[in-house]
Amino acid sequence: MQSSTEWLDWKFHMKNLIRTQADLEPWIQVSEREKKGIELTKGLYEWMVTPYYASLMDPADENCPIRLQSIPHPSETASPPNAAVDPVGDMKYSKTRRVVHKYPNRIVLLVSDTCPVYCRHCTRKFHTTATEGTYYNESFDLSYEPDFAYIREHNEINDVLLTGGDPLTLTDSKLESIISQLKAIEHVKVIRIGSRYPVFLPQRITQGLCDLLAKFHPIWFSTHFNHPREITPEAASAVDRLIRSGIPVQNQTVLLKGVNDDVETMRALNRQLLEIRVRPYYLYHADNVTGVSHFRTSVSVGLDILEKLTGYETGFSLPQYVITTDLGKIPVNNTYYAESNGNQLIRNFRGDRADITRYLALEE
Ligand SMILES: *Cc1c(COP(=O)(O)O)cnc(C)c1O
Ligand code: SF4
Repeated sequence: MQSSTEWLDWKFHMKNLIRTQADLEPWIQVSEREKKGIELTKGLYEWMVTPYYASLMDPADENCPIRLQSIPHPSETASPPNAAVDPVGDMKYSKTRRVVHKYPNRIVLLVSDTCPVYCRHCTRKFHTTATEGTYYNESFDLSYEPDFAYIREHNEINDVLLTGGDPLTLTDSKLESIISQLKAIEHVKVIRIGSRYPVFLPQRITQGLCDLLAKFHPIWFSTHFNHPREITPEAASAVDRLIRSGIPVQNQTVLLKGVNDDVETMRALNRQLLEIRVRPYYLYHADNVTGVSHFRTSVSVGLDILEKLTGYETGFSLPQYVITTDLGKIPVNNTYYAESNGNQLIRNFRGDRADITRYLALEE
């Protein structure tokens, strides 16, 4: 076993990534289904797990939420009708090798195609996890200059979200170079980093990295906790370092069958996020991405979970539920207010109903 100093060093984890069934065996009893998943996805989808993330696995339960998210599953090779490699249309909105410009004032900049753990449910599975696949158009330039030129030419862009893959896979100096060039563009006001390192390898969020980022405020950080089991003391201290450096941290969860598609798991997740000062931001409906179908639920599952949390939990612990489509992120909500035959009707979280037409009427 490793020493505790090694455990605290993210480089130790990256040198000891788990990539085979044999590497997994010290951590868990690898199940028949997992063996089959590893075998069937060989040459099709990448997989690897950090020792830190493996340490969160339940050794005896193949349905452990950590194992489901990180170990290949035989269903990844299924090809359901309607599934697509890019259902959200990133390719359609791609402007340069790295820029996806879908919304008026903000873009994503795909700065990496690797992650320390490959989520089996990745929405960009074809880009990150497929061994042959990538979103990057081969004809685009490798240099960052065309990406920066596009941003310079579009002065409506005030917000740049670094994602991928995981941007923190880059070295600190590469990140610094990218961010400083973005900040040199006058109309770019906000930089966001989308990273799952706080979940997969919180040790990567060093004080040095936080100090570097803090030079470029305002920096915002979005991460991706899906289950309360991922909220560990290590994750809490990584988040604490970010927040103390003035970087607000918000969370994006994907609604995943068998992982978090029930109200008590979601309640615990959102409560524990508040305890580490992370604000729940989006709850994504699982996209119909090729290789991800076994994680999908119906929209009514997400709406039902929110129905059971709204009013019972504080408003700022509730993420906005969205379906991502090639038309953009579509907010999906339960209805608490309706107009009918000129009347304004409400209900509360307990189901009490009232007609508040008179109360809302404006004075003549
Ligand atoms: C999600 C997303 C964004 C950011 O959306 P916000 O709602 O501002 O968080 C920007 N561009 C693309 C292409 C996206 O998918
Ligand atoms: S961290 Fe993000 S980009 Fe990487 S595999 Fe997971 S969902 Fe995909």
